Amino acid sequence: MRLADAHCHMELFSDPKEAAMTAKDNGVELIITAGTNKESNIRMINGIVDASLVFGVAGISPDFSSEDGGFVDQLEEMVRKNRGIVGIGEIGLDGKMVKKAGMELQRKVFIEQIDVANRLSIPIVVHSRGKIDEVKEIVVKNKVERAVFHFFEGSESLAKELASRGYLISIPPLEYGRMKRIINYIDLSNIVAETDSPVVGRTPFDVLKVAEKISEVKGIGIEEVCEKLTENIKNYFYI
Ligand SMILES: [Zn+2]
Repeated sequence: MRLADAHCHMELFSDPKEAAMTAKDNGVELIITAGTNKESNIRMINGIVDASLVFGVAGISPDFSSEDGGFVDQLEEMVRKNRGIVGIGEIGLDGKMVKKAGMELQRKVFIEQIDVANRLSIPIVVHSRGKIDEVKEIVVKNKVERAVFHFFEGSESLAKELASRGYLISIPPLEYGRMKRIINYIDLSNIVAETDSPVVGRTPFDVLKVAEKISEVKGIGIEEVCEKLTENIKNYFYI
């Protein structure tokens, strides 16, 4: 079975290398790990991303907008220098768990990072908790070509609209009714599976649970689902 985790945080594992190798032993061939603050991005680049099994998206998440420490200014150069960094993320807005950054600052840091992705012609991975409609508006208004909506929490009709714009919906390993409806509603070519491990899923291998759910809801064989989900990520990030 070919497995790929579209979104996790490898630097939060006590031994990221070991976690990646264990996932590989279980059939995970691709992991996209996401930066959140300056420190996590630096850790990611120095030793976690290997450009063969583990790739990264670099960026400042909304919660850390107020403490980016000038990181956004260095982002473009950092991406250019590291071929294991394949996108900008996770970036966006968070309307629920705001530590220090108010919405104005979150919007500013989000748009600055979209500009970097647009200049480099690489995808963004968005975080949109409690702010999905505004995040969509900003993404569309700023003419983002490729965006992965991480931990998608919107409606079926929004999922459909995003899919029609060529964006991807990333499904987390959670059991709830709305996810089923969204999986049912959009084409497999617009879906990727994520674990958000170790925060939500335990390890990148938990992506199999998401694939099983998609297989069940869509009535498509698990092998075929895993194959397609893996190809979706590879194609989108040009891996
Ligand atoms: Zn995340």
